[in-house]
Order: sequence, then structure tokens, then C-alpha cells
Amino acid sequence: MQRYFVDHDAVNMDQREVKITGDDVGHIAKVMRSSPGDSLICCDQDGNCFLVKIKQIGKDHVLCQIVEPIGEDRELPVSVFIAQGLPKGDKMEWVIQKGTELGAFGFIPFTSSRTVVQLDAKKEQKRLERWSKIAKEAAEQAHRRRLPTVSPVHSWNDMLKLGADYDLALIAYENEQTTSLYEKVARLPKDKKILLMVGPEGGFSEKEVQEAVANGFQSVMLGKRILRTETASLYGLSCLSFYYEQM
Ligand code: SAH
Repeated sequence: MQRYFVDHDAVNMDQREVKITGDDVGHIAKVMRSSPGDSLICCDQDGNCFLVKIKQIGKDHVLCQIVEPIGEDRELPVSVFIAQGLPKGDKMEWVIQKGTELGAFGFIPFTSSRTVVQLDAKKEQKRLERWSKIAKEAAEQAHRRRLPTVSPVHSWNDMLKLGADYDLALIAYENEQTTSLYEKVARLPKDKKILLMVGPEGGFSEKEVQEAVANGFQSVMLGKRILRTETASLYGLSCLSFYYEQM
């Protein structure tokens, strides 16, 4: 069943109604050719999902009646945030789309000494809008309850400060030879917040790894081969899904 993410104030629990606005209106009316009486799923920003029935399709809104809350949960039992060294071309889009399918809670693009891509404020704003849209569509298709967040591009210094906000902050380092991702997560219970930082195409400098470690990050290896930046993020998420959901 088609699923849509809505803002907090779109859900009116007193009236048991959800009012869908924005681009989704055209999707419901024109792409899906839905009509009153059809069922949908709406999820708010806290991960509450409802089975709803369309009451009325207006020009700029779709009004729905809440039928019942939906209990099924497809979220990862740990909140994993991917800090992704800004890659070239459309690779960030790829990481966001696939990372959302794999269960990431959020994406934090960042620049570091080996970042090649330069974005001015206007371009960054446009990219952010596009990335958020990709996350929304991927979350809908993956039947997620939660819409992953996409943060503005962080500078290296801002990135370092984030280490302290997480239960486990990891830096995936291509030259790390001893500590595995498994070793670090094996001691971490469920319901925790993990930050996995992955470098851009050129990787991290030794100085950056030292700075990250001094700021609470722990260096880990992601297997024995050198992965491309976009593969590294998705490998990390896949491993965490395997560990927390299947073992
Ligand atoms: N240009 C570098 C590789 C960079 S790979 C080189 O040739 O050595 C890009 C990023 O992916 C790295 O900074 C790291 O964060 C991650 N990565 C790739 N392979 C990895 C591995 N085996 N272990 C840990 N991190 C890895």
C-alpha cells in the first residue's frame, strides 16, 4: 500500500484526520489515480503510522480519515547516522537512496581535506532539497516508519564536534588493520545512537583520523578490501542490519 510521510500538524487525533499537502497531493491524485474511499498509510515525523481512507481530494490537499494505527516496525533497532564525505557526481544521491532502504536514520554530508566537490550556498540548498526528496521517496518505498534526516553539509570542525553526541562514534579508516566494526558494536546494546563516518574518494589523512579519535571517534575497518566511498557506507549499514536484526 502506498505510504506518505506527513508533518506533525497534518495529523489531527481529535478529528481522527490526516491532511496531506505538497507534492504528495499530485502523486495521490494524478500518479496513483486514487479516489475517495481508497486506503493509504500515513506516517508522522515521530514514526507513528496510520492506515487511513481518503475522504476528499482537493486541489492542494488530500483529507483522510484515520482507520487504525499500524504496529509493524521495520526500523533498525539502533539509530545509525551516516556521515558521508561529500562524494563526486551523483554518488551522494545513491548513498541516500540505498542507505534509506538499508535503514539509516540520517545522513550528514561533510567536507574534509580531500574533498573535491565545492558547493556554493545556492547549489547546496538545491542539493539538500533533492537529497531530502530522495530520502522521502526511498523511505516510502522501503515501508519505513521514519523519514531519515538529511543535514546541511558540515565542515570538518563541525563534524568533529558531533562525536560527543552519539553512544558510538566510528570513523571508517581504510588503513585501520586491527579493530573491526564487529568488535565495536558487539558491546553496544540496542536502542543506541551510532555515527559512522566515511571519508570521500581520497580517504582520510592520518591527521584527520588522529583528530577524530581525539574527539571521541573510534577507528574501525570494514573488511580487508578498500571499498569505494559509497560502498563503504552501504557495507556498514548492511553489517549493522545483519548484526542487530538477524543474529
Ligand atoms: N583513496 C583511498 C581509499 C579511500 S576509500 C585509498 O586508496 O586508500 C573512501 C572511504 O571509504 C575511506 O576514507 C573509508 O572511510 C572508507 N573505506 C573504504 N574501505 C575501507 C575499509 N576496508 N575499512 C574501513 N574504511 C574503508
